Amino acid sequence: MLNFRDEKLAQKIVQKIKEYSESLRFCHVCGTHEYTITRYGLRSLLPENIEVIAGPGCPVCITPAREIDEAIWLAEHGITVATFGDVVRVPGSSSSLAEAKAKGADVRVVYSPSDAVELAKKPRDVVFFATGFETTAPATASIILNCPPENFGVLVSHRLIPPAMEFMVGVGEHRFDGFIAPGHVSTIIGLGPYQLFAEAYRTPVVVAGFEPLDVLMAIVMLINQIKEKNPRVENEYTRSVTFEGNVKAQEAISKVFEVTGGYWRGIGRLANSALKLRSEFSEYDARLKYNIKLGEIRELDPNCSCHLVIIGRLAPQQCRLFGSACTPQTPRGPCMVSMEGTCHIAYLVR
Ligand code: SF4
Repeated sequence: MLNFRDEKLAQKIVQKIKEYSESLRFCHVCGTHEYTITRYGLRSLLPENIEVIAGPGCPVCITPAREIDEAIWLAEHGITVATFGDVVRVPGSSSSLAEAKAKGADVRVVYSPSDAVELAKKPRDVVFFATGFETTAPATASIILNCPPENFGVLVSHRLIPPAMEFMVGVGEHRFDGFIAPGHVSTIIGLGPYQLFAEAYRTPVVVAGFEPLDVLMAIVMLINQIKEKNPRVENEYTRSVTFEGNVKAQEAISKVFEVTGGYWRGIGRLANSALKLRSEFSEYDARLKYNIKLGEIRELDPNCSCHLVIIGRLAPQQCRLFGSACTPQTPRGPCMVSMEGTCHIAYLVR
């Protein structure tokens, strides 16, 4: 409690949550929410009847092995591959970009796609491996709109959050009573795309920020919607998220990308859940520029349970490799690599 910005307010909110006695299961789809919930021990503050499950909210964890293999193939064939730090260590089918780099491939960690464009000022082919959700897609779109040089390409691996939430709604007997929606994705997409959950699925949604008080407040707001039997989309994170979102970023995304089906590691293919470059930008599409050839694809180590962790069916500690064969230094699955991965977070606070 001492870690809360306002300890008294936190106690009041927890008390409010404890007044509700029926069993409820909420789902969030955000690695940063999982970090806040685990780091601040929020689950231990909740009564037993209120559960908060981590869904597929870590972009690195759900990036398919096939697409990591594509990036490795490029790096192993003389192309400079630039990407975000976490992605470099994620296992593909049989190795990672970090292993390719150790063997001499040119793999660079960048903080933004424009750093990757800078690399292309030298006479060599550079490909930016563009991963992440709606939060990172606008930056990728913006570099494409700024006419990067001919020797620059993008390996697009962006995914969209609302289709993953729709998948979670339909995960069999695993019904959720409400969603805590991700604050940073919502700064881009606004509240509109979540209406579907309230209207078609009668499932409440609250967009939340990332401080412990934000998450606790979101839980109270979800409970209130359930008590009122009035599922709707509410915004707890008003200091950053507006109803319409970032319209300029949305325009940049739709100018550059079209929506298509995409594979999610641990889940499978989800309709309308990925972005691909529009045909007018095909000159930058690394999949068209290079004749990438892949070997056998292995999405997960057979002993890794990330497919269950990613959909909240298994806690990391229930995986028999957790903390022994699988640690952040020796990750056996993607959920142990990224700072946003559920296993990595659980390991840090074990
Ligand atoms: Fe996979 Fe490691 Fe997590 Fe187990 S602990 S599910 S092996 S990432």
